Amino acid sequence: MLSIEPYTIGIGDRFAQQGRAQLQALVQAKTVGIDVFPVWNKSYREHNLIKTKPADVRAEADAAVKALGWTGSYYVDADHIGLKNVEGFISASNFFTIDVADFTGQSAGTDAEEGFVKTARRFGKTLTIPGIDRPFEIGEEGLRAAARKFQLAMQEAGRIYRAIVTQKGEARFVTEISVDETFSAQTPVELLLILAMIQIEGIPVQTIAPKFTGRFNKGIDYRGDLAQFEKEFDEDLSVIAFAIREFGLPPTLKLSVHSGSDKFALYPIINRLIKRKNAALHVKTAGTTWLEELIGLAEAGGDGLEIAKEIYRQAFARFDELSAPYVAVVDIDKDQLPVPETVAAWDSKTYTETLRHVQTCQSYNPNVRQLLHVAFKVAAEMGERFVQALEANEPVIARNVTVNLLERHIKPIFG
Ligand SMILES: [Zn+2]
Repeated sequence: MLSIEPYTIGIGDRFAQQGRAQLQALVQAKTVGIDVFPVWNKSYREHNLIKTKPADVRAEADAAVKALGWTGSYYVDADHIGLKNVEGFISASNFFTIDVADFTGQSAGTDAEEGFVKTARRFGKTLTIPGIDRPFEIGEEGLRAAARKFQLAMQEAGRIYRAIVTQKGEARFVTEISVDETFSAQTPVELLLILAMIQIEGIPVQTIAPKFTGRFNKGIDYRGDLAQFEKEFDEDLSVIAFAIREFGLPPTLKLSVHSGSDKFALYPIINRLIKRKNAALHVKTAGTTWLEELIGLAEAGGDGLEIAKEIYRQAFARFDELSAPYVAVVDIDKDQLPVPETVAAWDSKTYTETLRHVQTCQSYNPNVRQLLHVAFKVAAEMGERFVQALEANEPVIARNVTVNLLERHIKPIFG
């Protein structure tokens, strides 16, 4: 089986221009003893908005690997795919994030439900999991409730997995299953029962993305109860280790944190727990790189700064349209957004300090940051003009991309 390494990071960027700059961060991490492997990811939704194809991501990854002489593994992730759109990703990808969130909360039928309850009865009424200091009380009602919430979704995951196997062949790709785009977070017990259902479906899952407690907004820090997150993340890690042993799932199975970029408040907690438990981890951070492109353009001044201002002006005017697809994962206080006339007068320093994710900086504005995060469509519409600006200002942009990934993400998470 194509077995994933313990530490992996989801990278990738909207316009497929920062492959080398991102990989450079991983090269530098390796020189300080942090072994983390890249997974280029792009969802169907993102491809659609920007008009790119999975083959473009493959080409970007291959080119970066060649240019930097990267000899380690690397992956191209068909991010958040379903049965309807997996087809276009088959040849370009060797990592598939099977998204079945839309199938949660629906019953798979009484027979299937009873079948699961029967199989899972071996857990007994109280279940003790090593590493968790209280026993879990599950009971038949609990099993039935979990089946009603997740069984149909895991059956769908099985269908998608088998469709990929039919075309790609077994053991030639990494399988992730995601249920992170749901309304409510999954508890550690639910995670355990989801993994039991995955095992019944015979899916060799290697990464699993639950929805964690708290808000994982785009491009900004975590908002939520840190103590509660720590408790759940800790228990989730114990559940994963237990499920590997009990269910015979792949020993490489690990948690995957989606919208994982910029969650600076969580990194010390995550780092401490994975080190203490010797656990593996995947974190997706792709979205953060597009903002570094904007920061780089603004820092470069001249035409670059003008383009960065124009993108803000349009983003401000098209607020509703641009934020609509991301309404569940942005939290923008419109009153805290400067009007475009104000931004038009900014110099490079003001623009970069407002946008760069340094929370101790007085000028930093999380509302501007979230708005620009969802505004990549504006840049996509600029087409060649935007891409040429990226090319013209490559060194300054690349520096921002690499530093952001290495210093603000890789080191605090995995170091
Ligand atoms: Zn996700």
